[in-house]
Amino acid sequence: MPSAEAFISRTHIAYLSMEIAVRPEMRSYAGGLGILAGDVARSCADLELPVVFVTLLSRAGYFRQKIDAEGRQSEAPDWWQPERWCAPLNAMVAVEIERKPVWIRPWLYVHACPHGHRVPILFLDTDLDQNGEEDRVLTHYLYGGDEEYRLKQEIILGVGGIRILRALGFDLHTYHLNEGHAALLTLDLLNRWRIPPEERIAGELAYDIAEVRERCAFTTHTPVEAAQDRFSYALFERLLPDFIELEALKKLAGEDRLNLTRLALSLAGYVNGVARRHAEITKQMYPGYRVHAVTNGVHAGTWTHKAFAELYGAHWPHWQHEPEVLVRALHLGDDELWRCHEKAKAELVEGVKASTGIVLDMGLPIIGFARRMTGYKRPLLLFEDLDRLAAIASRHPFQVVLAGKAHPRDSEGKESIRRICDLIARLRGRVACAFLPDYDMQMAMMLVAGCDLWLNTPLPPLEASGTSGMKAAFNGVLSLSVRDGWWIEACIEGVTGWSIDPEGEAPERHAALLYERLESAVLPRYHADRAGWCRMMKGAIANITSHFNSQRMMRRYASEAYLR
Ligand SMILES: *Cc1c(COP(=O)(O)O)cnc(C)c1O
Repeated sequence: MPSAEAFISRTHIAYLSMEIAVRPEMRSYAGGLGILAGDVARSCADLELPVVFVTLLSRAGYFRQKIDAEGRQSEAPDWWQPERWCAPLNAMVAVEIERKPVWIRPWLYVHACPHGHRVPILFLDTDLDQNGEEDRVLTHYLYGGDEEYRLKQEIILGVGGIRILRALGFDLHTYHLNEGHAALLTLDLLNRWRIPPEERIAGELAYDIAEVRERCAFTTHTPVEAAQDRFSYALFERLLPDFIELEALKKLAGEDRLNLTRLALSLAGYVNGVARRHAEITKQMYPGYRVHAVTNGVHAGTWTHKAFAELYGAHWPHWQHEPEVLVRALHLGDDELWRCHEKAKAELVEGVKASTGIVLDMGLPIIGFARRMTGYKRPLLLFEDLDRLAAIASRHPFQVVLAGKAHPRDSEGKESIRRICDLIARLRGRVACAFLPDYDMQMAMMLVAGCDLWLNTPLPPLEASGTSGMKAAFNGVLSLSVRDGWWIEACIEGVTGWSIDPEGEAPERHAALLYERLESAVLPRYHADRAGWCRMMKGAIANITSHFNSQRMMRRYASEAYLR
C-alpha cells in the first residue's frame, strides 16, 4: 500500500489549488492557473521546500476541444486514468453537504525533481462506492456544472482538503490558498479557533481571526470582480447548514454575497497579487487590505526546449537550479543560438502539418498566439484590418499559428474561434495561418519554443500576469505585447521585445499600433537584420528568464509568505 508517511514529518506547508498541471497526460488542469500551480510544485521539489499539494482529481479533465469545418467548438470529456500515475491512499474523510456525508479519498502522486527531491501531490476523489451517484461525479468535471456543483467542489477542496491533511497526520503551519477556489478551508480553521460564548467580548467576532490569519497565505489571480467566485448565502446555507455563524461570515466575505476573494483577503495574513500592477489593482478593488506583489515565474526545466537546455547546460551546468545565471546569455554565439531555434521551429512546423495539413515555411517568421479564447485577451486584434495585414505580409512575409479553448459557456470566446477560422480561410494564399485544436500543456511546449514572435494582446488592466511570454523567452522567442501584467516589468523596448502601446495608448488604437510595430520594427529586423534579431533573442533570455522563473518566485514565497 502506498503511503504519505515519508512526507509527513518534514512537511509544514500545504498549497491548495483547484487545478494543477503535473504532467501533460494528467488532465487535471485547464490553463494558466493550473500550469502555474504545477510550476510551483516543480520548483518546490527543486528547492526542497517542505510543501504538500492538494487539488481535485478531475477525472474528466477540463474538456477536449474539437473544431468543425465552420470553426465551431464542441467539447468532449477528457477522461484520464489516475491509476497510471497515482496511487489511492488508505484514508477517507467525509464532509457533510446538505446534511449528508460526502466521502473523499486522496490519490497520491509523487513528483521527483532531477536531483531526486520529492513533493507529494494529493488528488481528492469522491467517485467512491460510499457515495451516491450525484456525489460521485463531484470531482469529475473541472470548472463544469452549475453554481451549486462549483460550490460543492470548493467545499471538497477547502474543507475536504484540510481534513484529509489532518487525517493523514500532516502538521502544517501554513496553508497557501491559490486563488479564491480554496478559500473555504478558512471556515474549518475558524471553527477550530471558535471563541467559547463565555469568553467573547460583546460586539466582536465569535472566532479568533488572528490565529487563522497566522496560518493562511493567499494568492489572488483575477483583477475583475465579476470573474471572482461569488455565491448566494441562500445556496451556501443550503449546502453547509449551521457550519459557521452567518453573521461573522458576512463580515469576512461580504454582506450580500459570499465573495471568496474577500473571504481569503480577510483571513490570510499574507496576500499577494501575481504582478506589481495586479497588486495595485487588487488594492483599488479591495481598499484596506495589504497586498504584496510576487510576480509569477515559470519553471525553467519544463518550458525550455531540449536543444536550448543542452546549450545552457553546456555553459552553466547548474542553470536549472539557479536560472539567474542565464543573465550571462549575452555571451552566447549567434550560430549556436540559431541552430537551437531551428530545431524547435522544425518541430512546430511538423506539428502544425500533422494537426492541420498546413505546411509552414521554415524561412519565414512564425507569429504565435495561444491562450484561453475569451474577450479580454482580444484574439481578434491581429485580424482587425485584413487588408492591412495582407499588405504588410506582401512586403514582409510572415505566418501565424493560433490555439486556445473557450470555456463551454463563454459564447463570445466561442464566437471568436469561429471568426478566426473564417478569417484564416479568407487570408489563404496571402498569409498562411493555422488554428490548432485542443490547446494543452504539450502543445504549449511546442508553441512557446517553436515560434519566432509571441503575441499578447490583453485589454489592460485585465491580464493579472500572463506567463506564456515568459516560457517563450526561455527559448529565445521574442514578445510583442500590450503593456499589462508581467510585461510592464519585463519589457525593455527593442532589447527584450516590443510593446504595442509603449505610452499606454488607448485600447481603440492598439490594432493600428500593432500593425505599425510589425511593419516598421519587428518584421524588418527579422528579414534584414539577423544579427540584430539574435541580439534581441539573447536580450530576452538574459533579462527575462533570469528573473521571471519559478525558482525566484518560490524563494520569495518561502521567505516572505511561509517564514513569517
Ligand atoms: C502557460 C499556459 C497558459 C497561460 O498562458 P497566459 O500567457 O497566462 O495566457 C494557459 N494554458 C496553457 C496550456 C499554458 O501552458
